[in-house]
Amino acid sequence: MKLSKYKRTDTITLHNKVRAQTKKAIREGILIRPEFCQRCRTSKVEEEHHRDYSNPLDAMWLCRKCHIEVGREEKMKRDIEIVRRKYGD
Ligand SMILES: [Zn+2]
Repeated sequence: MKLSKYKRTDTITLHNKVRAQTKKAIREGILIRPEFCQRCRTSKVEEEHHRDYSNPLDAMWLCRKCHIEVGREEKMKRDIEIVRRKYGD
């Protein structure tokens, strides 16, 4: 069973689009990229994370380590949600 809403190529296109919009927002001063990771607050920002790709300005600025962890946590939440929808509470 395929659970993803988008086809893989659509997802990549969407990600690229959001990334470009984020870059533009930084250039225009709408978004400010902080120096330190918003999660651990000690490492330098290396990557941006989007919780919601329909809102490109809602970016989290993270170091690589935190980005991986946040991605893992969100995947787990999504998996729980899928199971909940399938079997009920
Ligand atoms: Zn971090």
